[in-house]
Amino acid sequence: MTLVDTPATLTGGPSLAQERRLVTAIPGPRSQELMARKAAAVAAGVGHTLPISVVAAGGGVIVDADGNSLIDLGSGIAVTGVGNSAPRVVEAVTAQLNSFTHTCFTVSPYEGYVAVAEKLNELTPGDHVKRTALFNSGAEAVENAVKIARHFTKKQAVVAFDHAYHGRTNLTMGLTAKNIPYKSGFGPFASEVYRAPLSYPFRDGGLSGAEAAAKAISVIEKQVGAENLAAIIIEPIQGEGGFIVPAQGFLSALVEWARENDVVFIADEVQTGFARTGAWFASEHEGIVPDVIVTAKGIAGGLPLSAVTGRAEIMDSAMAGGLGGTYAGSPIACAAALATIETYEQDGLIERAREIGSVLIGRLNALRTADPRIGDVRGRGAMVAIELVDPATGAPDAALTNAVAKYAHANGVVLLTCGTYGNVIRFLPPLAISDELLIDGLSVVAEGLKNA
Ligand SMILES: *Cc1c(COP(=O)(O)O)cnc(C)c1O
Repeated sequence: MTLVDTPATLTGGPSLAQERRLVTAIPGPRSQELMARKAAAVAAGVGHTLPISVVAAGGGVIVDADGNSLIDLGSGIAVTGVGNSAPRVVEAVTAQLNSFTHTCFTVSPYEGYVAVAEKLNELTPGDHVKRTALFNSGAEAVENAVKIARHFTKKQAVVAFDHAYHGRTNLTMGLTAKNIPYKSGFGPFASEVYRAPLSYPFRDGGLSGAEAAAKAISVIEKQVGAENLAAIIIEPIQGEGGFIVPAQGFLSALVEWARENDVVFIADEVQTGFARTGAWFASEHEGIVPDVIVTAKGIAGGLPLSAVTGRAEIMDSAMAGGLGGTYAGSPIACAAALATIETYEQDGLIERAREIGSVLIGRLNALRTADPRIGDVRGRGAMVAIELVDPATGAPDAALTNAVAKYAHANGVVLLTCGTYGNVIRFLPPLAISDELLIDGLSVVAEGLKNA
């Protein structure tokens, strides 16, 4: 067994020992102590997946207060693509902290915000003239994308899709599909939000992209009407809804219909963005150019930042003062974003996401061949999932999914589940993870399946 560092003096980042190391049961005594304080102090609605007390993280590991080192297959939900405490991010944030911490961009501007906007305008799909506005969270950016689309089109209705997840604020709860835990009892929800069917190849009887799009467009035309519709909002690969990759041609047919009908097409790339899927943005895999693209999670190495980027004529339609927020585009978060984007570029992390994807897909498909409870293996790049089912009926098996996740947690792997039916295990490792750790993490998942 390795000597355990004193947690209080442990430094995070990639220099942290890259190993799975359990020195106590999970949760250990110090983590249990924190969980007891949490239960007494923090609102019960703020849940947790894994009951540990984190003291350091970096590369592909998370270290807890008891000295356990866990393999990170979640990246804090697709946020720390560059790894925790990535060196360029730490350096840029430290320098920014030492120069100034806040002025409010809409009071007295600074360069970092503008530089992030320039970078997003350059990196997002399409070579049209673009503008960007920055916010704090994914939900806040989604809200603003809808505000802007309504202002531009002078129309009100918004269409979201089955299995969608767009956030926890009032409008974004309304856009989100799943009742429990996201919506139940939290209404009333915003009006003029409608839902269309999604292309879900594993569960829609194998409709082609064109057929699934025709079905969705028919619902939109019959139930909403293009003349009332400001925007369609969709995740190019759904996140919380179950890592659903729509059939080829579904998204492009929707984009085409939106363009013909003066409807703003908004891609919510909050989870899929920033190298995660083996491209800067998942829209690129389908060759689509969204009118507006919403980004957040992977943008700033763990600091809170989000963005709305879109066609200049759409983005510029809102009046001065109509967009913004006290902390929106914080100078510290902007410094982190610039360093994060530089890290994706300099460390070849888009390519790395593809390599991680082949390891994941290869090993998970091998497992699936031997285990019919794995109904589907899907995803792109370092955003991959398995859907667990009853092999006889194909019915979702949430109990098995929870059992595998529990086994992984107890054995030192941070593993996330998702899906409308709670039967999807999702893999979102930091792109800074080593193959060795990734493969070790997958072997724990395989053991979990065998034991369940
Ligand atoms: C996480 C997520 C959001 C919400 O982002 P927050 O920062 O949690 O508000 C919105 N859309 C998608 C696709 C997400 O994955």
